[in-house]
Amino acid sequence: MPRDAAIEALLTLHGIDSEIQKLTAQRDLLPVALRRIETLANQQRQALTEKRDQIKHLRARIAARESDLRAVEAEADKLTVQMNAARTNKEYSAFQHEIAAKKADASRVEDDLLTMMGDAEELEGDARELERALAQLDKQQAEEGKGVDKDVAKVEGEIAALAKKRVAAAAAVEPPLLEEYQRIAAKKGASALASVVGGSCQGCFMQLPPQICHTVRGGRQIVKCPSCARLLYMA
Ligand SMILES: [Zn+2]
Repeated sequence: MPRDAAIEALLTLHGIDSEIQKLTAQRDLLPVALRRIETLANQQRQALTEKRDQIKHLRARIAARESDLRAVEAEADKLTVQMNAARTNKEYSAFQHEIAAKKADASRVEDDLLTMMGDAEELEGDARELERALAQLDKQQAEEGKGVDKDVAKVEGEIAALAKKRVAAAAAVEPPLLEEYQRIAAKKGASALASVVGGSCQGCFMQLPPQICHTVRGGRQIVKCPSCARLLYMA
């Protein structure tokens, strides 16, 4: 039995809508990998900023410590001049003690400085490592971005072509039926239609009453599935 023209028109429209939905999902998935790279690059950028802040603070502490060292050395120099002008052995040995204490202070500051400089070098090594990784990610992002843009444009071209075909296909469906279909499609997406196989609706897999199967088979009237409300057609 030939299928009713109204059902044929609806199936054509439904086919186009399904294709548009598939292509739209495909287009939306294209930039996903790119967004992953972007997220990773942002994390690395954040880590790099923190690392640079740490380096800046450490450098400031090193500068302060270097200034401490110069002060202690200046004091030791001053004491040496005073020691050389000492008039008694007692005075001389008192200066000697003071100078030794200053030198011990200076040596502690120098140890601190060495530790801090070692830390700074390590941090700078980390920062360079992050910069390299980030440059690599930025390059990858730019390259893949070009590819994704091209792919998105291609899929969007296909969607636009289908949208044109859809206008004609929709015009071929009787207005009340089109309205009904659009209403169901708004809820169920591309699965607004369901085929009937072995007496059951392929949208919700419920067994259909024999009367409904009979009407669908007749192909003269559009019937809705009583359980999921999809428009039924014979597969
Ligand atoms: Zn159903």
